Amino acid sequence: METIRKDILETPVEFLKGVGPAKGELLKKELRLYTFGDLLQHYPYRYVDKTKFHRIRELNEDSGSVQLKGVLRRLSIMGEGPKKRLVGQFRDDSGVMDLVWFTGIHWLEKALVVGTEYVVYGRVNAYGNMLSIPHPEMEVATPENLERAPAFAPVYPGTEKLNAKNLDAKALRRLLQSLFEKLQPGDLPETLPAYLVEKLHFPPRYDALRGIHFPKTQEELDAARNRLKFEELFFLQLRLLQLKRRRKDEVKSYVFDKIGDYFNRFYAEKLPFELTGAQKRVLKEIRRDFASGRQTNRLIQGDVGSGKTIVALMAMLMALDNGFQACMMAPTEILAQQHFLSVSAYLEGMDLRVEFLSGTIKGKKRQAILDALAAGDIHILIGTHALIEDPVQFRRLGLAITDEQHRFGVAQRAKLWKKGIPHPPHVLVMTATPIPRTLAMTLYGDLDVSVIDELPPGRKDIVTTHRTENHRMRVYGFIRDEIAKGRQIYVVYPLIEESEKLDLKNLQEGYEALSREFPVPDYQISIVHGRMKPADKDFEMQRFVSGQTQIMVATTVIEVGVNVPNASVMIIENTERFGLSQLHQLRGRVGRGAEQSYCLLMTDFKISHEGRERIQTMVRTNNGFEIAEADLRLRGPGDLEGTQQSGILNLHIADLARDGRILQTAREIADRILDDDPALQKPHHAVLRVELDKQKQQKGWGRIS
Ligand code: ADP
Ligand code: MG
Repeated sequence: METIRKDILETPVEFLKGVGPAKGELLKKELRLYTFGDLLQHYPYRYVDKTKFHRIRELNEDSGSVQLKGVLRRLSIMGEGPKKRLVGQFRDDSGVMDLVWFTGIHWLEKALVVGTEYVVYGRVNAYGNMLSIPHPEMEVATPENLERAPAFAPVYPGTEKLNAKNLDAKALRRLLQSLFEKLQPGDLPETLPAYLVEKLHFPPRYDALRGIHFPKTQEELDAARNRLKFEELFFLQLRLLQLKRRRKDEVKSYVFDKIGDYFNRFYAEKLPFELTGAQKRVLKEIRRDFASGRQTNRLIQGDVGSGKTIVALMAMLMALDNGFQACMMAPTEILAQQHFLSVSAYLEGMDLRVEFLSGTIKGKKRQAILDALAAGDIHILIGTHALIEDPVQFRRLGLAITDEQHRFGVAQRAKLWKKGIPHPPHVLVMTATPIPRTLAMTLYGDLDVSVIDELPPGRKDIVTTHRTENHRMRVYGFIRDEIAKGRQIYVVYPLIEESEKLDLKNLQEGYEALSREFPVPDYQISIVHGRMKPADKDFEMQRFVSGQTQIMVATTVIEVGVNVPNASVMIIENTERFGLSQLHQLRGRVGRGAEQSYCLLMTDFKISHEGRERIQTMVRTNNGFEIAEADLRLRGPGDLEGTQQSGILNLHIADLARDGRILQTAREIADRILDDDPALQKPHHAVLRVELDKQKQQKGWGRIS
């Protein structure tokens, strides 16, 4: 019996009562709901108390979605052509307002009965000072209907198109209802071992799924949510931790047990400063990995300026000391260039060959690098994605470091692995900006983690202030004073693709204003933006780096990597248009020398609430991890750069910004289970294996590794 019904969740959605081929097609296109199972996982994003009513007199333009009870007084068709609409006059004991429909006019005109009492639900719209509700849900206010009204009516995410085709929130509610009419508890078998369900006081799975769609009480809803969030995070962690363990157990790699001449000489003669305690600790962790005989897969997190590059470099020297080559891959040309320049500078005089490779290196030069690499003459190769292209062959690659703005795709990582022969290289992943713990645990949950949680000594916090247009003259005065002290200044403009022309105009005008205020020959100004030829860009950069120019006007091309210790002021224009992590990166361009540094955040008078919060966060703290947390809270993980592509964060219900504790619990429990039963072979863990297999097929989890 059970086997026959087992696949009901795989049933194509069009076979559900009330769907059919046309609506089925829409559900697939608009919401990616293909099967009953998908629909079941289309969770409400909020609930409406249908037992409570608003009063017309108390409504205003900010009322949002409301429920009213009253009498339909009049119905009339108004307007012509596309403006044709059905308008209903609706009255409760406090006032009168309009209900408006633009589609289904004639049908509605027949169906609705003037003089009848209705329950109306919809979103208040303000047109001038007239309030109305477009396309409200209508239900006759019979005693039975009122009796049946749920305190938690689910509201489902939908789209305009679906609304227009009569697949609105109410229709989705009906579909879920008819789905639950078909489903029996046996169709939604347990996915968690019984002892866990009991220990965590979870409702059975069927109850949880029913409870998330149609809760009767707040308690039921909380319990359902809690379980479903846990479940979602738990299986993801189980999968990531399994992967991590499997690699540890199965993937052999080279043993780097020597600390040799390269490392020692560098340490004794070249290292220009004492390492911080955190840098030393992380290097020890890396060294232990390298000596273990298993493949290293370690994430190195650290705030902007915490000194990740030197750690990466010294790890590469360990590889070299053991007779291997190393490579380092960065997400952008500029960042890769910067790594190449700083690594080359650190290694000056060490008789090592360090080369740069990117898409811009072509022809003979490229071939020469490829040949030398295959012959083993190049010790360290630094570059962009070009490193993982097929023709790039190492003689003996032992260590691959990736500096990631966001998680590199898996296919890319797999390619990197294949560059090592016979074994995959050790892998270190550095993040260009700090990422919140919950996100790290999820995106990089299969890696070991090291955190460089200490900045080099002597760094002063950057003083950050918010300034508006009427401070402009004082800002110029400040620039003048700082230049007089011998400092250099960055002025950065946003450049966002869709409005590139406008932005470029802003940048040009800003440059001209500055040129008038700071004229030659007393002052020199550099300008750099993405539309310039690389050679011109380099030339301008170089003038700033060497101190010939005092002001650098730029777009965010300088966001990453640029290192000019004498620059002590960062002025960011139109700050409200930048994201938090970008602002933090930009600010990190100053505060690199011994001088007190400043960051001025320029905005209009009027900025959005969220923009203000971003600015307040920047003013309040210099701590990149704190800023990353705030970013996650404000924007949600889906919007953080790059998380979309990773495919890991397609979470249905868990929220990484808010469910940190559930995530922590899920990870700990997953870890404990794997300690006890690594292959999940014990009988009571069979359910876990079944669910993992199912999810693996559905979600294409191959993408994770
Ligand atoms: P990150 O990549 O983590 O943002 P970098 O590796 O670029 O940081 O280092 C930032 C700056 O700090 C560089 O100029 C580097 O030379 C310097 N630096 C790194 N480690 C130390 C240290 N232990 N003491 C002093 N300066 C350091
Ligand atoms: Mg760096």
